[in-house]
Amino acid sequence: MTSENPITDPYGRPIQYLRLSVTDRCNLRCHYCMPAGGIDYVKRSMLLSYEEMYRLVNLLSEHGVGKLRITGGEPFVRKDLMKFLASISGLKNLKKISITSNGVFLGEYLPGLKDLGINSINLSLDSLDRKRFNEITRRDDFEKVMDTFHALIDLDFMVKINMVVMEGVNEHEINPMAELAMRYPISVRFIEEMPFNGGSGRQPTLRWNHVKIKESLHQHFGKLVPVASEKDSTAERFRAEDMPGDLGIIAAYSRTFCGTCNRIRIGATGGFRTCLYGPEVLNFRDFMRSGHSDDALIEAFKKVIEKRARNGLQAEKLAKEKSTSMSILGG
Ligand code: SAM
Ligand code: SF4
Repeated sequence: MTSENPITDPYGRPIQYLRLSVTDRCNLRCHYCMPAGGIDYVKRSMLLSYEEMYRLVNLLSEHGVGKLRITGGEPFVRKDLMKFLASISGLKNLKKISITSNGVFLGEYLPGLKDLGINSINLSLDSLDRKRFNEITRRDDFEKVMDTFHALIDLDFMVKINMVVMEGVNEHEINPMAELAMRYPISVRFIEEMPFNGGSGRQPTLRWNHVKIKESLHQHFGKLVPVASEKDSTAERFRAEDMPGDLGIIAAYSRTFCGTCNRIRIGATGGFRTCLYGPEVLNFRDFMRSGHSDDALIEAFKKVIEKRARNGLQAEKLAKEKSTSMSILGG
């Protein structure tokens, strides 16, 4: 089995993209992701160890998973992350490793990431206004994030900005944020707010859904030309005239992209989800810690893939817990 010949789900979708959450911890407290007091962190011993993560990534890469995104929580709050990244960057079947980060601690690691061949970063940035940024994240780190942003540009990283659009909070920043793609060769993506906030009390309205976000961009920039995306992309991408970068809209709540979804998620405690909206279908940590072989692990993996839901609406019906934080799900 190689990335050219991956395991497919019942609807013929190849499973090629793993999102691995390396920690449930985070230095920020974004309103849309968790309550002010944070989430209850699990004991360290309950987190997957780096050895366990390596085993999983190695094994899954031998069975068709060619793309890996490292996420969290905030990946860079976990000690020795760079050592782990160095270990997996040598895996021959892993074609691409990318990272999603809030950018606060990321800056100092950028040269090291380049050396490992990791040059694709998704940076979360929900406001270009310091005061609003601090309100959204409940921390005072705007300057650090902006310094990281500029360092990413200077070092020629492939940068995607993720902005969660929240009604009454930052919808008026959609166009100023999109203007970044006029100034820099980056992708600026707008994400519909999802209800995965760990019980922070926010109720996403979906008034600012993908259609309305696009209308706003259209009014601001005029003609928007579609940009070809990879087949499995969750973003609808386009570009305005003379734009060096591009724009993307991720209909994360409307779920317009399920038909081609090839992603799976492993949370920081080993919880395996075949859909963001669905329940944990297997716990890899427990499975590995009870002494199962690699073959048994792949068999168990195949079994749950065989039952993968057709789309996020179907998967949601199976989930008992509806407001888990994205920091646990591995966003
Ligand atoms: N801490 C890192 C960060 O913020 O980039 C990585 C983990 S975070 C959970 C991954 C992504 O999920 C971020 O881009 C964040 O904006 C997004 N996210 C978190 N909660 C969300 C929600 N309720 N709706 C939509 N996106 C969300
Ligand atoms: Fe932390 Fe990322 Fe969640 Fe914000 S979105 S609280 S940075 S995990």
